[in-house]
Amino acid sequence: MITERLGHYIGGAWVASDGQDIIEVVNPATESVIGRISSGTAADVDRAVQAAKQAFDPWSAVPLRERVAYCTAIADLMRQRADELAAIVTAEMGSPIGFSVAVQVGLPTATFASMETFVDQIEWAETIGNSLVVREPIGVVAAITPWNFPLHQIAAKLAPAFAAGCTVVLKPSEMTPLNAVALVDILDEVGLPAGVVNVVNGTGPAVGEAITGHPDVDMVTFTGSTAAGRRVSEVAAATVKRVALELGGKNANIILDGADLAKAVPNAVQKGYLNSGQACLALSRLLVPRGRQAEIEKLVSEAVCTLQVGDPTDQATAVGPLASQTQRGRVQGYVKGALEQGAKLVVGGAENPEGVTTGYFVRPTVLSDVTPDMVVAREEVFGPVITIMPYDDEDDAIRIANDSIYGLGGGVWGATPADAQRVARRMRTGSVEINGAEYNPLAPVGGYRQSGNGREFGYHGIEEFLTTKSMQL
Ligand code: NDP
Repeated sequence: MITERLGHYIGGAWVASDGQDIIEVVNPATESVIGRISSGTAADVDRAVQAAKQAFDPWSAVPLRERVAYCTAIADLMRQRADELAAIVTAEMGSPIGFSVAVQVGLPTATFASMETFVDQIEWAETIGNSLVVREPIGVVAAITPWNFPLHQIAAKLAPAFAAGCTVVLKPSEMTPLNAVALVDILDEVGLPAGVVNVVNGTGPAVGEAITGHPDVDMVTFTGSTAAGRRVSEVAAATVKRVALELGGKNANIILDGADLAKAVPNAVQKGYLNSGQACLALSRLLVPRGRQAEIEKLVSEAVCTLQVGDPTDQATAVGPLASQTQRGRVQGYVKGALEQGAKLVVGGAENPEGVTTGYFVRPTVLSDVTPDMVVAREEVFGPVITIMPYDDEDDAIRIANDSIYGLGGGVWGATPADAQRVARRMRTGSVEINGAEYNPLAPVGGYRQSGNGREFGYHGIEEFLTTKSMQL
C-alpha cells in the first residue's frame, strides 16, 4: 500500500505544492516505495511562514492551561494510535517494531503529556526592583527534524513550542515524512487552531534553508548532522535569529576496573546498538582497561551473537536495517576504513549479512584495538558499530573520552556509583549514564562543543522557546 499525501499543511489544510517534484518514501527492509510526498519550494515556505505569523498573536494569547490541554489531548490520541504510529515509523526507517512502540512512539507521547507538569516549573514572571520581568514566546519557530527518531524529534520541538505559545513551520526529514502526516491528522482531530503548526515537506537545501533564512521566522530548532547544523547557523546568522542545535555525538562508555562486567557488557552492546546505532546518544566508543581488553572482547562478541538481525516487523528482532541505502554505504565504509587503518575485527564486518539480498542490512560489528586517531573513533558512524578502545588508567580514560569535537552523551561503569560519578563529572558532555542507568525522557538533553547548543525536554526544553521582557514600573 502506498500512502500519498501531496501538498503541504498550511493554515490548517493540505494545500497544493508550488513545486511539481515528488519524493518517494522507501521501506528500508523491503526496498519498496511506501509513500509519496511533495518536494516544497521557497514559495511554499513563505506561505507557511505567513500562516504561522498570522496565527501567532491569537495563539500566544490563548491561556497557558488551554494550550497545555491541546498537548494532553494530542498525547491521548497518540496513545490510542500507538500501534498504527509505530508501524509507520518501522516501515519508514526500519526500527524494530517493539522498539518503535516503546520508544519511537512512547517517548513523543510522554513528551506531549509532560507539558502539563513542566509549565508549572517555569518562572513566567518575577519582580526585580522596580521591574516586572516576564517570559514571552519567542514567535514563529522553524523546526527541522531528522529520520532516526522522527516522531520523537518532532514532539521534542512541537510540544514545548505550543506550551510556550509559539507557532511552528515544520520540515520533517524527506526520508520519514509519513509519521508527521499521521501526527498532523491527530493535531487536526484535537482541533489545534489553524496556522499554529504548518508542515512543508521537501529537502534540506530547498525547504530547510528557505525557512532558516526567512526574515519572519524568529527561531530555528534543528536536529541532525553537525555539517547541516553548521549550515543552519550560517544561514540563520543573516537575520540574527535564535538557533537551537541538537547535533551528532561520539559518546564514550567507560568501563572502570572493578566494574561488574556481567552487567556492563550486555548493557554496553544494547546502548551501542541503540536504534541500530542510529542514535546521537548511542554509546559507540567502549573504553576498557587494557588488562581486561581480551576478556571484554570475548563477552561483547558473545552478547552480539545473541541478537536477532532481520525483519523489523518481527517482535523478536533486535537490529533492523539501516534507514537508507546511503546510510548503509556510509556505515560499511567506516568499517572497511577502520580495518584498513589497523583495527581488529571482533565480530561482524563490512560485507552485507550472509544470505541477505533485500534491505539495507549491515552486520552488527565490534572493532577492537581502535586508537583515538582512527577515523572510526573520531566521526559519528551512526550504525551498529562498537569500537573497543583500551586505556591505561582513569586519567587516560577521561582524556580519550574528551578527545572529540563532540560532547553529547556518555556512560561510566564503576565498582560503586561514587567511582562512576567521579569520572562522569570530568566528562565534557551534556549527559552521562551511571552504571547503565536508563534514559530519562524528562531530563534535559543537549550537547557541549560541536554536539550543539540547545537543551530539549523537561522545563529546560520549554525555556528554549521563551524570551524575556523587563517592564519598569
Ligand atoms: P542531515 O543532518 O542532513 O538531516 C537532518 C535534517 O536536516 C533533515 O530534515 C534534512 O533534510 C535537513 N537538512 C539537511 N541539510 C540542510 C540545510 N542545509 N539546511 C536546513 N536543513 C537541512 O542528516 P543525514 O540524513 O544526511 O545523515 C547524515 C549523518 O548525520 C548521519 O550519518 C549521522 O551521523 C548524522 N545525524 C545525526 C542525527 C542526530 O540525531 N543528531 C540525526 C540524523 C543524522 P533532508 O530531508 O533533505 O534530509
